[in-house]
Amino acid sequence: MKRGDGQKVGLTTTIPVEIVFAAGKVPVDLNNRFITNPQKESFLAKAEAIGFPRNTCGWIKGIYGVTLAEGITEMVAVTQGDCSNTHALMEVLQTAGVRIFPFAYPYDQDRHLLALQIERMMEHFGVTQEEVREAKETLDRVRGKVHEIDRLTWQEGVVTGNENHLFLVSTSDMNGDWQAFEGEADRFLAEATGRRPLADGVRLGYLGVPPIFTDLYDCLEELGGRVVFNELQRQFSMPFTTDDIVEQYRQFTYPYSFFIRLEDIKEEIRRRGIDGLIHYCQSFCFRQVQDIILRQEIKLPILTIEGDRPAPVDARTRLRLESFVEMLRYRGQGWIYG
Ligand code: SF4
Repeated sequence: MKRGDGQKVGLTTTIPVEIVFAAGKVPVDLNNRFITNPQKESFLAKAEAIGFPRNTCGWIKGIYGVTLAEGITEMVAVTQGDCSNTHALMEVLQTAGVRIFPFAYPYDQDRHLLALQIERMMEHFGVTQEEVREAKETLDRVRGKVHEIDRLTWQEGVVTGNENHLFLVSTSDMNGDWQAFEGEADRFLAEATGRRPLADGVRLGYLGVPPIFTDLYDCLEELGGRVVFNELQRQFSMPFTTDDIVEQYRQFTYPYSFFIRLEDIKEEIRRRGIDGLIHYCQSFCFRQVQDIILRQEIKLPILTIEGDRPAPVDARTRLRLESFVEMLRYRGQGWIYG
């Protein structure tokens, strides 16, 4: 891929990252950067100190804080298909001198409109179709390795839910360095394929945006639950086979109607033999409302949990998780019918 100025480009969610790599820039998924930063809680405090309301999503305040802390001056902000809070966030960041390129996913997956957005973005970053095609080929090879890690999670049982989460969620920006990330995936695959299968546990699916809880997966494993499906994280890894970049970002379910996500969720529940679902909702997020549809459409036990700020799982949530996993275990043993 082309050698550019190596400047960091912040991303508010998954976008056609092939274009950023083709331009020789360094994509930075601001969500991942926020949640892995040791100072993450202070970012929220700083955002609230300048006037972000208490009842604004923690991810938005975290992105604000990490953008300034990392000195990011350029950003691709998704203005349709992600979160309406992003509008105000990008305007506040603009006042702090950050250059914003807005990217909009058409709600109805309209191919023509999506192609126009991708072309605009290519023009903005000064890259050609050929350069983007080459970048896609490279990134697809890396994604393929992460898909194998995903398969080893649900089919072979040798990868934990947390490891699965971390690899999948990192594909949005390949941690800013696809070569290093590919090396990491290779080393992990070599090690994981030699492991013995993990102890059998209740098979869980995790739905919703990534958790702001810092230890959710560890907590679930400790309670005897195994997350074998990380829904949106898997979507960030583009689990489809297509040579066409427009089609790839049309098949990506996250930015479109919830019913598109549901089709994928139903399919994966069947394929992965899932016993129950954890639906994670972020405090003050509009996506909480989609829990209504999820419960109407899916006939598996679902536990909805809510997180607000980056912190370990609180005692009340832990107790609910424990009861849920236990109920599923008894249900699997035929002690509970339904
Ligand atoms: S969790 Fe919800 S409110 Fe927060 S940034 Fe994501 S979509 Fe927006």
